[in-house]
Amino acid sequence: MSDSNAHRLPTDTDDGLLLIISGPSGVGKTTITRGVERGVPDAVFSVSATTRPQTSADVEGVDYHFVTDETFEAMKARGEFLETAGIYGKKYGTPRAWVLEHLRRGRLVILEIDVQGAIQVKKQIPDAYSIFVLPPSEAALLDRLQGRRREDEAAIQRRFAAAKSEIELARSCNLYNLSITNDQVEPAIAQAIGAVNLERARRRASKK
Ligand code: 5GP
Repeated sequence: MSDSNAHRLPTDTDDGLLLIISGPSGVGKTTITRGVERGVPDAVFSVSATTRPQTSADVEGVDYHFVTDETFEAMKARGEFLETAGIYGKKYGTPRAWVLEHLRRGRLVILEIDVQGAIQVKKQIPDAYSIFVLPPSEAALLDRLQGRRREDEAAIQRRFAAAKSEIELARSCNLYNLSITNDQVEPAIAQAIGAVNLERARRRASKK
C-alpha cells in the first residue's frame, strides 16, 4: 500500500472542489454560502481568522476565529494562510492546512472571501470554482445596507461605495466562473448548488 493510500479513509473521494463565494457587503452572500453548505452533503465551510471584533451575531470557531493582531501576524509569518486581506482596516486570513486537507479528502471546501483574496487563491489553486453574488440593483443593495441598521448613514455610504468598487473589480479581474443575482434567496441557493453539482459531474466525467 502506498503512503497516500495508508491515510485514506473510507469516506475519502477524488471529488475535492474548492468553491470561492464572493460578493459585496449586504448582498446576502453569507446566507447563500450557508445554504450551499447545508445543501451539499460533503461541504465544509472554511473558518477564517480575523482581527475584527466579534459581534453578538458571531460565534467563535463557527463564523470566524477571532485573534489579536499579534497572533494574526505570527500565523502569517509561519505561512499558515492560503491568502490574507485587509478589509475596513481589519485583517482576514484563510487557513491553508485545513483547506488543503479537506480538498485532499475530496470535500467541497467553501471559502467566503473578498475579491482580493480570491485573486490570491486562484493563483495557487487555479482549478478553484468561483461564484460572485450580485444584488438585483444598486438601489436594492443600498436598501439592504440601510435595512440592516448596523451602522450610521456615513458608514453605510462608505460600505455602499466599497460594494460598488468590489463589483467593478470582480467584473474587471475576469476570475469568476459564475455570477448569481440574489433577488430571492432560495432560488439563488438552488442555482449555486446546481452549478457546483454540475461542475463536479463535469470534472468526474473528464477524469474517466
Ligand atoms: P465581515 O467582517 O462582514 O464578516 O466580512 C467582511 C468581508 O471579508 C466579507 O466580504 C467577507 O467575505 C470577507 N472575508 C471573510 N473572511 C475572509 C478571508 O479569510 N479572506 C478574505 N480575503 N476575505 C474574507
